[in-house]
Amino acid sequence: MTTSQTKFIFITGGVVSSLGKGLASASLASILQGRGFKVRLRKLDPYLNVDPGTMSPYQHGEVFVNDDGTEADLDLGHYERFSGVSATKNDSTTSGKIYQNVINKERRGEYLGATIQVVPHVTNEIKDFILSNLDDEDFVLCEIGGTVGDIEGQPYLEAIRQIAYEFGRARVMFVHLTLLPYIPTAGELKTKPTQHSVKKLQEYGIQPDMLVCRSQKQIDENEKRKLALFCNVRQENVITALDVSNIYEVPIAYAKEGIDRAVCNHFGIECEQNLPDLSKWEHILEVMSKPQGVVKIAVVGKYTQLLEAYKSLGEAIKHGAIANRVKADIDWIDCEKIEKEGAEKYLKDTDAVIVPGGFGKRGTLGKIKAITYVRENKIPFLGICFGMQMAVIETMRNLAGVQNADTTEFAQDCVPVVGLMTEWQKEGLKQTRSKDSDLGGTMRLGAYPCRIKKGSKAYEIYQKEEISERHRHRYEVNPEYENVLLKNGMQICGKSPEGRLPEIVERNDHPFFIGVQFHPELKSKPFEPHPIFVALIKAAVKLKKA
Ligand code: GLN
Repeated sequence: MTTSQTKFIFITGGVVSSLGKGLASASLASILQGRGFKVRLRKLDPYLNVDPGTMSPYQHGEVFVNDDGTEADLDLGHYERFSGVSATKNDSTTSGKIYQNVINKERRGEYLGATIQVVPHVTNEIKDFILSNLDDEDFVLCEIGGTVGDIEGQPYLEAIRQIAYEFGRARVMFVHLTLLPYIPTAGELKTKPTQHSVKKLQEYGIQPDMLVCRSQKQIDENEKRKLALFCNVRQENVITALDVSNIYEVPIAYAKEGIDRAVCNHFGIECEQNLPDLSKWEHILEVMSKPQGVVKIAVVGKYTQLLEAYKSLGEAIKHGAIANRVKADIDWIDCEKIEKEGAEKYLKDTDAVIVPGGFGKRGTLGKIKAITYVRENKIPFLGICFGMQMAVIETMRNLAGVQNADTTEFAQDCVPVVGLMTEWQKEGLKQTRSKDSDLGGTMRLGAYPCRIKKGSKAYEIYQKEEISERHRHRYEVNPEYENVLLKNGMQICGKSPEGRLPEIVERNDHPFFIGVQFHPELKSKPFEPHPIFVALIKAAVKLKKA
C-alpha cells in the first residue's frame, strides 16, 4: 500500500551506460536507512526480454534470483546487499513483462474494446508496477534501466512524469546520474554531455532535481555553478560521485557530498541537525583497510572474461574475507585453460578453490580436473550448483571407477549421476519440467528449504538443521547414487525436507570439501556474511598458516 507519506525517487541515467546506477541507488537507499527511513528499491528495465533468465551472462552479467524465484537484473543484488531488504517479484520488471501483461489483459477482453496503445495502456501498466505492492515505505527508489534517449526507455519516462504530475513534486524527486568526462589535453571536466542529457529529459517533461555526476576528479564550485545554471538544478543538488576503488566506499562518499541532505531538503524533511548513521559502513571500511592477512581464492569458471557474470560470488567472497579480517585475492581462472594445461600450473599456490554455477559442456573437463586436484591436495573447496554436480561426477569417475558418469544436461549415453528430476515440490504443489519445457522460468528457482544432517561439516557451519537457500538449476544429483558416493568418501549431508533431492555433499576425507546445489552467494551481505563463505575463507587462512 502506498500511504500519502510514501515518497518516490526516480533514478535515470545519462551520457553513457554502465555508470553504476544500481550502486548509486543502493547507496542512497542505505544512507536514507541510516536516517531511520524505511526504503524499497525497484528496477525497471526497458529491454524486451520477459526477464534476464535467458540472457547470456556475457551480455548481461549474472542473473540474480530472489527468494520467490524471480530471475532479476544483477542490480537487485546490490539492492539487497546494501539495504538488507529482500526483493520480490514486485521489485523488478522489464518491457517484455509489461507488454506481456498488457497483451494478456487485451486477450482477456479487460480493456473493453479499447485500442491498445503505448500511452496510456503500457504507461499505466508501468505506473501500476511502481505504485503497487508497497508496505508503508518512506521512500521508494526506482531505477530506470538504460540511458535517457533510448527509444525503449520512453514509456518509462512518460510514466514517471505522470506520477510526478499526479502526486505533486512534494512526493517525487528525479535524480539523474551522468558522467563528466575529463579531457586531459584541456585539463577540464566537460559538462556539455550532461547538459544535453538533461535537455533530453526536459523534452520528456522531466526536470531533474539532482545531478549525481560520475567523475575522475573533484568537481569544483565553478563547474557545479555552471551545471546548476544550465541544467536548472540547485547548486547544492549537484553531487560529485568520484570514482572509488572499493564499492563499499560509495555510501560514505555520497553522504559526505550531502546527498541525503539534498533529498531531505527536496521533500521538506527537517535534517540539518542529525547526520545519517553509517557506522556499519565505517566498520566495513575499517576492517578492509587493515587486513590481517591475504588469502588467494581461485574461481574456476567459464565466464571469467566478464566478471559481472560472477557479481554476487565476488561479493560473497569479500564478505567471508571481511568476517575473517583478511583480504581475499581472487584469481578468476578460465576452466578451459585447466582443461588444456592441467590444474597444477594454475592452482598450486591457491588457498581455496571455488567451482561456481554454470551451464553447458564447454570447459567441464577443466572443472573436473580442478576438483581432482583440490581433492588430492586437500585444498579447501566449494562447489556451487554446477560445481557441486561436477564434484559428484568427479568422485564417481575417479574413485568409484564409473568412467562414463555424467550429467544428462549434455551427455546422452552416460551413467546419469546428474539428471533431470521431472518433478519437485514448491509450497505443497508439484512442479513439473521436462526437456521440452520453455527455457525461461522453468528451472528450480528461488528459496527452498534444506535439512542438514547433524554431525556433518555443513551442520557445523550453519549451526542448524533447517536452512533456506536460493536455487537456479534444471538438473539434480540423482539420489540413487547415494550409497556408491558414500562408499567413496562423499556423503549427502543436506537434502530437501522430504528426503529426496540432494542439496549438500561433503567429503569425509578432506579438511573442507563441500558442494551445494543452491547459490549461497545470493544471500550473502556485507553485514551478514554467508556462513559457508566465512567457513571457506577460515579454512583457507588455516591452510595458509599450516
Ligand atoms: N546447468 C546446471 C543445471 O541446470 C547447473 C546450473 C547452475 O549452476 N546454476 O542444473
